[in-house]
Amino acid sequence: MSQAVSEFISVGPTPREIERLENLAAQLADAAPEQTLRWAIDEFDNSVTIATGFGLEGCALIDMAVRINPRIDVFFLDTAFLFRETYELRRRLEDRYHIQIRAYETDITPEDQELRFGAELWTTDPDLCCRLRKLEPLKDALRNRRAWITAIRQAQTLERSRARVVEWDYQWRLVKINPLVRWTTQDVRAYIAKNNVPFNPLHDRGYPSIGCTHCTRAIGKDQHERDGRWPGHEKRECGMHARAQPAALITTDSTGDETAWT
Ligand code: SF4
Repeated sequence: MSQAVSEFISVGPTPREIERLENLAAQLADAAPEQTLRWAIDEFDNSVTIATGFGLEGCALIDMAVRINPRIDVFFLDTAFLFRETYELRRRLEDRYHIQIRAYETDITPEDQELRFGAELWTTDPDLCCRLRKLEPLKDALRNRRAWITAIRQAQTLERSRARVVEWDYQWRLVKINPLVRWTTQDVRAYIAKNNVPFNPLHDRGYPSIGCTHCTRAIGKDQHERDGRWPGHEKRECGMHARAQPAALITTDSTGDETAWT
């Protein structure tokens, strides 16, 4: 299993290698998240990293991962607009697990952003705001990595409903591992409670999904968990987990072989 995945990371996958990843996803489809995490950490060692947004899922993943590798690399994207409770949670997790959660951020200060793009860019053009404050820093965070681990679940958004436990990430060009992809909200909450994992107190105040202060609102019990994100916009994703169409990306190189990473 390990040989098949490691071989192609430095050059990008061919369709046959994509097929191997799909077989791997089928093998791990019913695996417990801890089993998937153990495979990922064994397979990619220190070239795998965990991305966390400090949601319940991300906190659960950190708890699982440090039991396997206490020195696991973890990072978050600091937009400069996170809730005070979120920054406090970062410190609580670091203290609890004896890790450092690295911050990646744009060098565009909020003041620069307003000067260059106008006031409240998150209102006038939230896609651009997310690109500047999340996607560009994410590119840096994933540079020279062979794989990343995310806390996404299929039930969260339409975009995420097609996520697999292991897949090639066409957007960022590395292997993407989603150990919690099939978990429900109840599964996550049960794990958090059972293991006494630190979590954001805002979750108990009507915020099931928490992002930037400007783009997150409390919601009612009958609303979908992402309905409090980007209120007033159709947007439900920041763009980190966009799924390109594989067929559109597969071309033929100068040797006549198909390549899947152009
Ligand atoms: S979530 Fe809102 S404030 Fe945060 S980066 Fe995206 S648009 Fe900007």
